[in-house]
Amino acid sequence: MSDKNLDDMICYFEKLLGERYVSTNTFEKIKNTIDPFPYKTTKEVLPYVITLPETKEQVSQILKYANEEGIPVFVRGSGSQLAGSSRPHTSGIVINTRRMNKAQINEDYGYFECEPGVRCGEMVDMLGEKGYFLPVWPGSRKIASMGGVISNNTSAHIIDASIGKPADYVLGVEVVLPTGEIIETGTKGLRKPAGTDLTKLFVGGDGLLGVIVKIRMRLVPLFKEAYSIAVFDNLDDIAKSVQRMYREKRPAPLFMEFMSKEASEIGFKVKGMEPPPGPVLLSMSVGQTQEEADYKMAEVLKSIVKENPISASLITDNDEWHKLLSAREVIAPYVMQLTKSQLTTSEVVANLDSVVEAMRESEEFHKGIPVLEEVNNVLYGHIGGLTIHAAYLFPPDWEDEKLREGVDAVFRKEAELNVKYETCGGEWGQFSKRTPFFIKRYGETSYELMKKIKVSFDPNNILNPGILEGYR
Ligand SMILES: Cc1cc2nc3c(=O)[nH]c(=O)nc-3n(C[C@H](O)[C@H](O)[C@H](O)COP(=O)(O)OP(=O)(O)OC[C@H]3O[C@@H](n4cnc5c(N)ncnc54)[C@H](O)[C@@H]3O)c2cc1C
Repeated sequence: MSDKNLDDMICYFEKLLGERYVSTNTFEKIKNTIDPFPYKTTKEVLPYVITLPETKEQVSQILKYANEEGIPVFVRGSGSQLAGSSRPHTSGIVINTRRMNKAQINEDYGYFECEPGVRCGEMVDMLGEKGYFLPVWPGSRKIASMGGVISNNTSAHIIDASIGKPADYVLGVEVVLPTGEIIETGTKGLRKPAGTDLTKLFVGGDGLLGVIVKIRMRLVPLFKEAYSIAVFDNLDDIAKSVQRMYREKRPAPLFMEFMSKEASEIGFKVKGMEPPPGPVLLSMSVGQTQEEADYKMAEVLKSIVKENPISASLITDNDEWHKLLSAREVIAPYVMQLTKSQLTTSEVVANLDSVVEAMRESEEFHKGIPVLEEVNNVLYGHIGGLTIHAAYLFPPDWEDEKLREGVDAVFRKEAELNVKYETCGGEWGQFSKRTPFFIKRYGETSYELMKKIKVSFDPNNILNPGILEGYR
């Protein structure tokens, strides 16, 4: 872009948003370009400008401008997506949603509405104060934006078979299309549309088709909770107990997390607890009454104990449960601190029949891949959702090229396994680093169809380019 055009654009945005909310500061540019991947950003991809709109009308004006001028636009929540979609591959305009942070709980109608920049954790707290639950639970909830999680349709740690995915609760969205028009989808009622519902294209739309500027979700009353812990000799038996739980028709728990022996040693140590003698399985069942939650947990435990755990028991002390759950959640941040490395995680998703095999293959994920054999790894996951995270710790002193090789190796292996199990990632979207997987898994025809859908919403391919193409 020529200096003159850049000046004109910045001038236009400053008039639209106010000078404070338009930045060309290099530090801001870097901050709005990086993501959890370990390699650096480069000068060539730094954005021209960071914009911080407050209203949907401002978002619309930015997109209209960009569409007319053919300038790429990158939407930014907190930039924590784990498959590469928040890292632009070329320069453009960043729309950072941070200032779009209003939320309202409307108990009379039975829903809440929020703007995309509201942090997940803020929404959890707001809802919690009024006795409601947010059916979204990523490890990153303190920072992840509602726009980001809804674009990904991730329930994260929450097991799909228990209460579903965010899309099941989203009653409607407001969206600014890449051409600048503003549309509303869905309903203000508590009954979601039957038949065509454009909401479905945007919730879990990988940020390809429009900028979500308002989200409306059904209110879910807080649950009563019941907890259990089981310690096993080996990971195979954990996988078998999950298989057994489903096959014996037990009610799926809300959370069912596992940690390998090595991972649990780390988590338990950080939380000041005696390390367990083997891999750990933590489960939480929920119900409208305590009796219901206790019943469901007891049912799940009936399956678990049949797979010969070293120990298995209910947890009745809330504090103990929260300590155990946080022992699981601190693993990734702690190992990164400890080893001064950055973690790249795979998301191997088994089908029910292959969960034991998937666990074994995840333990050996790095075997035969030199760049992964060189580094430390940890194994944990949301096993109730049949998700296994084989995560790799890349040292900061590696050259960028080698770090990229390591990250790409993780996604290649993940793709190989998920193609084999005929599954797909359930947490971080389907494109960017996963585009080759999408093509392998669903075929060229499906991919071409996706491109046609994209063009009909975004004829000049200005919104989040590079995600669908897998350039990121
Ligand atoms: C430590 C850590 C733990 C994590 N744990 C989990 C986990 O347990 N489960 C899980 O699923 N994920 C997890 N994540 C990944 C990440 O937090 C989630 O994927 C989250 O959904 C992304 O939110 P974000 O605000 O960071 O989105 P961003 O990274 O900013 O955006 C993600 C994509 O959505 C698009 N987008 C953002 N906002 C909008 C909008 N308003 N309209 C249209 N498109 C938009 C962006 O352009 C981008 O393509 C974790 C990440 C970290 C760093």
